Amino acid sequence: MYNPKSDKAEEFIDHNEIIKTLEYSNNNKNNRKLIEEIIEKAKEKKGLNHKEAILLLDNEYEDLNEEIYKLARQIKKDFYGNRIVLFAPLYLSNYCVNGCVYCPYHYKNKHITRKKLTQEEIEKEVIALQDMGHKRLAIEAGEDPVNNPIEYILKSIDTIYNTKHKNGSIRRVNVNIAATTEENYKKLKERGIGTYILFQETYHKENYENLHPTGPKHNYAYHTEAMDRAMRAGIDDVGLGVLYGLSLYRYELVGLLMHKEHLEAVFGVGPHTISVPRIKKADDINPEVFDNGIDDKTFEKIIAILRIAVPYTGMIISTRENENVRKRALELGITQISGGSKTSVGGYYEAEPVEKNSSQFDVSDLRSLDEVTNWLLKLGYIPSFCTACYRNGRVGADFMEVCKKEEIHNFCGPNAIMTLKEYLEDYASNETKKTGDEIIKNEIEQIENPILKEKIIKNLQLIEEGKRDFRV
Ligand code: SF4
Ligand code: SF4
Repeated sequence: MYNPKSDKAEEFIDHNEIIKTLEYSNNNKNNRKLIEEIIEKAKEKKGLNHKEAILLLDNEYEDLNEEIYKLARQIKKDFYGNRIVLFAPLYLSNYCVNGCVYCPYHYKNKHITRKKLTQEEIEKEVIALQDMGHKRLAIEAGEDPVNNPIEYILKSIDTIYNTKHKNGSIRRVNVNIAATTEENYKKLKERGIGTYILFQETYHKENYENLHPTGPKHNYAYHTEAMDRAMRAGIDDVGLGVLYGLSLYRYELVGLLMHKEHLEAVFGVGPHTISVPRIKKADDINPEVFDNGIDDKTFEKIIAILRIAVPYTGMIISTRENENVRKRALELGITQISGGSKTSVGGYYEAEPVEKNSSQFDVSDLRSLDEVTNWLLKLGYIPSFCTACYRNGRVGADFMEVCKKEEIHNFCGPNAIMTLKEYLEDYASNETKKTGDEIIKNEIEQIENPILKEKIIKNLQLIEEGKRDFRV
């Protein structure tokens, strides 16, 4: 029985409710009046529920779809301004006891190189990432209680935060590890993590169980209820996502929004981020064997619908996607992207030899961080290395309150300018520096509040003189 407030996965992600919702949407997708009403509601920028969102996704009226895209662009601008936050993944270990059929780290894959970084290696990787200009990392590790116990993850987080090289520092570590106990989530919280990210992969229980035939991850309820344990343990910000291509995307969109509604109903705060990964080619994995792949057009529409259904949640796209797809995704709602990423265990400090491949998936966007930064500038965005909210305690419900009032961009803009300036001073190529400095000049002109404007100008001068780490 569907109950968003239940603590049982099968009740807050109720299969029958999803099927009923999909039928409702199918029956109403030619109901223009109803779709128009939902678009009007979306214009209030308070979000949409799963029933409304799926109907917009299923809508085939071309003019209404254009209106949806326009609204998605507007909402993104109103909430986040023109900044795009940059981050990089850091794979700590690819040992894994699970049997996920879509991931090369599954335990049966005997030809992938297995690796686990030592603390010394992590330090080297972090220095290499700092030297690129990164300030925000997402750490990734397979599930393996012997090779990657929680103590290893905690120690690695300490190493990352404690590594300081030249002007570099990692100021926010987000964590993407397997579903774990409330006690372990408390330990992660104590270590000062940013967002805890866990992709659901698929909300369809039967498919989920088939795709995860062995290992602890086979347990659908334990995995789906992970965010509840994390939030009960005091983790303020959690990140959701499904792996598009595993199950039918309509089902996934409804499931994902029901998960969001559940978190809001129980904890009063929805997900901090939503990621939109699509299944990609990797060692031992051929994405063509999964019949549920979605084309670029559908993918873009999902991003736009999510943007208007959940205006106050950051949206992330990785280098799984190529430049063109990322460009369109940025227009329609994405607020955070990875840049210069390696999806191997190690590989930032020293490139991995081809015959020793340890990657989780093939990267489609191979550009360096500097190239991505330059590209963003030329597209009219402000590349941002900001980590201010988490460090100023603007997290969880407090963050949502600011965001829902459409005030977060008042923080994002100035922080983007200051962290971009740091990047330009310390790491950028000449060309990127030149473009970036010009854009910063224009951005400052647009700050309306004279006190803030003066403060930012002063801080920019201080950054030029060698001071670092300003934030509002
Ligand atoms: Fe392991 Fe995660 Fe890959 Fe599954 S998806 S095999 S849990 S690393
Ligand atoms: Fe993110 Fe907050 Fe910085 Fe904006 S001000 S970019 S929401 S950390």
